Amino acid sequence: MSYFIDVILPIPLDKEFTYSITENEAIFLKPGMRVAVQFGKSKIYAALVTKIHRDPPQVYEAKEIEHILDESPIVTKEQLELWTWISKYYMCTKGEVMRAALPSAFLLESETIILRNDKISIDESLLKDDEFLIYEALQYQSLLRIQEVINIVSKKNVLPVIKRLIEKDIITVQEEIYEQYKPKMVRYVKLHPNYSKEAALRPLLDSMTRAPKQREVLMQLFTLQAKATKPIKVSELIKQSNSTSAVIKTLIDKEILDEYHLQIDRVQFQGEIQDNFKTLNEYQLKAFDEINRSFQQKRVCLLHGVTSSGKTEVYVKLIEEVLVTGRQVLYLLPEIALTTQLISRLQEYFGEKLTVYHSKYSVNERVEAWNNVKEGKSKAQVVIGARSAIFLPFVDLGLIIVDEEHESSFKQYDPAPRYHARDTAIVLAKMFEAKIVLGSATPAVETYYNAKEGKYGLVTLNRRYGNVLMPEINLVDIKTKYRKKQMTGHFSDTLLEGINDAIKEGEQVILFQNRRGYSPVVECNTCGHSPQCPNCDVSLTFHSHKNQLRCHYCGYHMAMLQQCMACSSTELSTKGFGTEQIEKELIALFPEYVVGRMDQDTTRGKYGYEKIINRFEQGEIDILVGTQMLSKGLDFRNVSLVGVMNADNLLNFPDFRAHERSFQLMQQVAGRAGRTKKRGRVLIQTYNPFHQILQQVSVHDYTGMYKDQIEERHQYKYPPFYRLIKITGKHKDYNKVNNAINWFAKSLRNVFNENVLGPEFPPISRIRNQYHKNILIKIPQGQSLAKTKGVIKKMQLTFSSIKEFSGVRIIINVDNY
Ligand code: ADP
Ligand code: ZN
Ligand code: ZN
Repeated sequence: MSYFIDVILPIPLDKEFTYSITENEAIFLKPGMRVAVQFGKSKIYAALVTKIHRDPPQVYEAKEIEHILDESPIVTKEQLELWTWISKYYMCTKGEVMRAALPSAFLLESETIILRNDKISIDESLLKDDEFLIYEALQYQSLLRIQEVINIVSKKNVLPVIKRLIEKDIITVQEEIYEQYKPKMVRYVKLHPNYSKEAALRPLLDSMTRAPKQREVLMQLFTLQAKATKPIKVSELIKQSNSTSAVIKTLIDKEILDEYHLQIDRVQFQGEIQDNFKTLNEYQLKAFDEINRSFQQKRVCLLHGVTSSGKTEVYVKLIEEVLVTGRQVLYLLPEIALTTQLISRLQEYFGEKLTVYHSKYSVNERVEAWNNVKEGKSKAQVVIGARSAIFLPFVDLGLIIVDEEHESSFKQYDPAPRYHARDTAIVLAKMFEAKIVLGSATPAVETYYNAKEGKYGLVTLNRRYGNVLMPEINLVDIKTKYRKKQMTGHFSDTLLEGINDAIKEGEQVILFQNRRGYSPVVECNTCGHSPQCPNCDVSLTFHSHKNQLRCHYCGYHMAMLQQCMACSSTELSTKGFGTEQIEKELIALFPEYVVGRMDQDTTRGKYGYEKIINRFEQGEIDILVGTQMLSKGLDFRNVSLVGVMNADNLLNFPDFRAHERSFQLMQQVAGRAGRTKKRGRVLIQTYNPFHQILQQVSVHDYTGMYKDQIEERHQYKYPPFYRLIKITGKHKDYNKVNNAINWFAKSLRNVFNENVLGPEFPPISRIRNQYHKNILIKIPQGQSLAKTKGVIKKMQLTFSSIKEFSGVRIIINVDNY
C-alpha cells in the first residue's frame, strides 16, 4: 500500500508536488502541517501539506519525505483556501503566497554542517594550517557550522578548505534543517521543597547568619512572595536583594532554592488598561447604529467620515460588541510605524486582548503572535496590523476594520503576491461570515462607487468631533506672488505671515512637500547637462546635508559635483526643491523657532518615526516639514496651520488616479489642522489656483471630486468600469526586452484587440540597470475575468518556450492601480 502527500513549496513554481509517505505518516499527517523535503539536487525545504492521498504522480517518481516538522497543523483550512484564491486572482503561485504569508521562522531552509570522519586515522603533519585548525576543532565538538568554520580560520571564503578536507576524507558534510523559532524561556526560582515546612525553615535561617548575602536573598524572596502569588523571576530577585547571580547559583547548588523555567511571550503589554471608554456623541452613535443596521443586509460597510470625526471611537464600539461574543477582530492599518498614536489609544482600551502584528518585530515575536491567533487565545482577540496581517491563522473572525481604506500601501507591488489587502480582506470576511468596515475621510473612487451602487452599505459622518469646523482652506497663487516679488525663497508672504501668527499664539505648524532631499535637479548653466544615475534613467537629487547626489530609486550616491561633468563649467544651479531645502530656508527665516523634518531620510531605524512624532507632540518642535508621511492619520492637538508648499507636482503625475490621489493627499494633510476647538487653517501654494481639483479640495467637496472622476473613468475605460492587468517585461538588454514585449503585446492584441494598451516604456524605463516595458490590458464588464487570465497564462507559457526571449522576466500585476 502506498501513500502520498501533495505539498506547496515556498518557491515560484506553479504546481504542487507529490511525495511518498509511510502508512504511519499518513495517519499522523494532516493538511497544514510542514514536512521537510528534498527538492532539486540537495536543497531541503519546509513544504506545506495540502492533501494526503493514494494516487501516485503520473510523470515522475515520488521521493520520500525527510521528516515531519510539526505536531499539529500550523496553517488552517481557511488559510489554504485564501492562498488558493490569492494565487488564482492575482496570478501568482501558491509558493509565493506561502512565502508572504508565513513568518520567516516557519520557512526553514537547510544549512550545511560539517562532521568529522571517525573511520580513518590521520597524519596531522600532512595538514595545512587552516585544515589543521578545523580538524582540531572537530576533536572537541562533533559538528561545525559554516559560520563557525569562518570564525576558526578567520576568513570569509572557507569553501576551498572544506573541499580539500572532504577530498582527504577527514570530514563529511550534511544538510541540516534548523528551526529559527525558539520559545523564550525565563528563569524563575522558588524555595526548595526541602524547606517547604516551617520546621525546616527556622534552622536554615539560623544557619545562615554567617552568610548574610544569601540570607538577604532569601528574605527578599519571602517579601516578594508575600506581595503577590506570581512566580519570581531570578532577574527580579537579584535586583530586589541587590545581589548577584553567583549568590543565587550558590543557593541553587545548596538546594535551598529551586530553579525552573517558563515560556513567555516576547511582546507583552506593559501599560495599564483604562476603562474610561469614551461615550459616543450623537453623530457617532447614529453612525454606529447605521453600521449595525447595514450589517443586517450587507457584509461590507463604508464609513465615510471627515477627518477628526472620531471614526476610531466608532470602530472601538463595534469591536467591543464582537469581543463579548468571543469572536476575533482584525484591524488593518496602512502602515504600523506611522500609527503609534493610534496603537497606544487602542492599547488603552483593549490592553491584554490586543496583539500588534508588525513586520519590524523579530521572527520569534511574529511566531508567537501567529500561535496565539491560531489557538484563539484571548490575548490575540484583537489583532492590529498592516497588510500582511490578513495572513494570520484566524479561527473565528467576526469583524474586520480597514482603516484609511483609500491608502495605496494596502496594495503590495513587489514581489508577488501583488495583492490588495482591502480586497483580500473582503474575501477573508466572506469565508468567516464576518462583517467588514472600510473607513476613510476620502474613500477610494472604486469603494465609493460600490457603496453608491448598493454593493456596500454607506454611512457618513460629516461633523468633526466637538463640532470643530473643518479647516479653512485658501489657495495661494504663487505665479502672481513671484511677479509681485512677494516670495521669499519658496514661501509666499501669506504663508510666512500665517506661520508667524500661529507660533506667536503658541500653536504648531505642519508644512508638506512631497519630495525629499534638497533639490531634485542639478543643472549646468552653461550647457544644460544634469547629472544622471548610472543605473536608472533619472536625475540625481541633491542632498545638501551630506553634500551628495543621490538616486531615490536605487540608492546610488556620489559627492556633489564641483563642476559640470560635460563641459567643466563651475556654474551649476539647482532646480525644484525638497523637504531638506524647505527646512534650511525655515531655519534661516525663523532662527528662533525649532524646525523638524519627517521624511525617509530622518526616520530610519526601529523608532525613527516615533521619536519625531513624540517630539512634535510634546511641543519641542514648532514647525514640522515632511513628505506624505504627514498625511497618515496623525492626531496632533496643537496644529493650527498646515501649508502645502507646491500642489502642482502632485497634480501633474501621469496616472489615471493622479487627481484622485492629489485630492486625498491634500484633504488628509489639511485634516491635521485644527483638530481641537479652534478652526484650523490650510494654505496651498500653487501656480494653478483654478485647477478643478484644488477648487474641490478648498471646499472639501468629496462628492464633486467623485462625480468628475467617475465620469472620466467611464469615458476613458478605467476601473471600476474596466478591470486592469499590467504586464511588465524586465531585462538588462534594451533590445531583448523590447522585442519580447512587442511580441507579447501583439499576441494579446490578436485576442483582445483594442483593449490592449501599449506596449510602452514607462517614463523611467531603466531602474537598477533593468529596462522595463509595459502592456496594459483592459477588461470590460461583460468579459470573463477567469478566461482572460487563462489566455494570458497560456500566452506566457508559449512566451517562455521562445528561446530568444529567455531571461526576460515577466511580471503580471492584476488590479495594478
Ligand atoms: P478620525 O479617525 O475620524 O480622524 P479620531 O478618531 O482620531 O478621528 O478622533 C479625533 C479626536 O477626537 C481624537 O483625539 C479623539 O480622542 C477625539 N474623540 C473622538 N470621539 C470622541 C468621543 N466620543 N469622546 C471624546 N473624545 C473623542
Ligand atoms: Zn555643462
Ligand atoms: Zn539609480
